[in-house]
Amino acid sequence: MAVSFDLTGKTAIVTGANTGLGQAVAVALAGAGADVALVGRSSMAETEAAISAAGGRAKSIQADLATIKPVDRVIKETLDWTGRTDILVNNAGIIRRADAIDFTEADWDAVMDVNLKTVFFLCQAFARHLIAEGKGGKIINIASLLSFQGGIRIPSYTASKSGLAGLTRLLACEWASKGINVNAIAPGYFSTNNTEALRNDPDRNAAILGRIPAGHWGQPEELGGAAVFLAATASDYIHGIVLPVDGGWLAR
Ligand code: NAP
Repeated sequence: MAVSFDLTGKTAIVTGANTGLGQAVAVALAGAGADVALVGRSSMAETEAAISAAGGRAKSIQADLATIKPVDRVIKETLDWTGRTDILVNNAGIIRRADAIDFTEADWDAVMDVNLKTVFFLCQAFARHLIAEGKGGKIINIASLLSFQGGIRIPSYTASKSGLAGLTRLLACEWASKGINVNAIAPGYFSTNNTEALRNDPDRNAAILGRIPAGHWGQPEELGGAAVFLAATASDYIHGIVLPVDGGWLAR
């Protein structure tokens, strides 16, 4: 059988798809043939237009993922749209920067809620549907280099992304036998809103760039290939990995 990266006939859900990495992943999945439900709290018009212009299909679902309240509705609205759901990309995430010694409970909870708690309950709702239908599917969690490393001044972010790597492995162990692949992608340093503060700090910017073997900040489009791979049948025997897409950062 030929190796396939084709997602024609599949429906993907991508959270945080209005901008940055989520937008790039949504466009890449649509380019591989998937219908894409764009989930988030801001307007998805730009992503929807990019996908339509390229001949794909997308639908916006408004949802603030700071709580788990919208989780079941996201799955339901996707099913109401195409009648199916095959791929879930948990991309929405936030970061709060402060020295650990000064870090507040509010900054701890906000990050853990979006980056870890809502992700778990979205995975659960998605898998419950697939298992009820007797179908397999693909979950892709957007982790981070902070799933492997400590970082500085981002305690809740590092805890959430390290937790997400563990959660990815646990869910893979529980659901691989049901045909659900649970994997993660760990982006390196990409040029998005999330890293604006770092890129605007000349010292941090130079230090980061100096360590990336590829010699440049990742551009969001450079994440799309890994997402398509983990969403496609080409990766059917891959379970529980955290795949770095980092210009060689971790190899250094
Ligand atoms: P970004 O431009 O800040 O995008 C974050 C996305 O998450 C936005 O779509 C944002 O929506 C959404 N989001 C945040 N809080 C939300 C909420 N309560 N409800 C719904 N959506 C919410 O940054 P990004 O770099 O593309 O980040 C995407 C993912 O990649 C995150 O999980 C991040 O941790 C991870 N990541 C990024 C890098 C990097 O170098 N950029 C590296 C490693 C991992 P709004 O626009 O409405 O806020």
